[in-house]
Amino acid sequence: MNLDLTQFRQPETDVSRRYDAEAFHGRTSEFRVADPVDLRFKVYKDKERFRLVGRVLTALEMPCSRCLEPFQLAVDSSFEIRYLPQSESTGDEEKKIEADDLSDAFYRDEQIDLSQLMEEQFYLALPMKPLCREDCRGLCPNCGTNLNDATCDCQVRWEDPRLAGLKALMTRDNDNA
Ligand SMILES: [Zn+2]
Ligand SMILES: [Zn+2]
Repeated sequence: MNLDLTQFRQPETDVSRRYDAEAFHGRTSEFRVADPVDLRFKVYKDKERFRLVGRVLTALEMPCSRCLEPFQLAVDSSFEIRYLPQSESTGDEEKKIEADDLSDAFYRDEQIDLSQLMEEQFYLALPMKPLCREDCRGLCPNCGTNLNDATCDCQVRWEDPRLAGLKALMTRDNDNA
């Protein structure tokens, strides 16, 4: 999944690539790529420097943080990354002068590793708390039933949370005695 930079002679070039989901399998543990990955971007060339501006589209599969069932998350992520030759990475001064909103990366041997670019975008797209749906009811903390599909008897005995707090307090007192 490398991008050969020697092919770019024009200041601006459109690139479009499509990768099978399988190409990403086994590379990440937090999620699985579930759909083919569409990568479209423009390459802006300025001598040794390249700017990649585009989008990556796919679907990721991961477990819901509440009910633990796997679900798919659509990803449509925009990026703008500036690539400098690896040799420039030692010149800190130049980097400081050009500090702006663009993310910087480095390329080596006239190649950009697109798998790294895409995986970064996947990680950025991950929610802090993945949910199969906004109102996922999760698992019953008592018997483990998935409350999206079924109800369980534990639910019926609704307890006033204030009483529950009092009960916990009393149990603690008993333990101390
Ligand atoms: Zn869920
Ligand atoms: Zn239950």
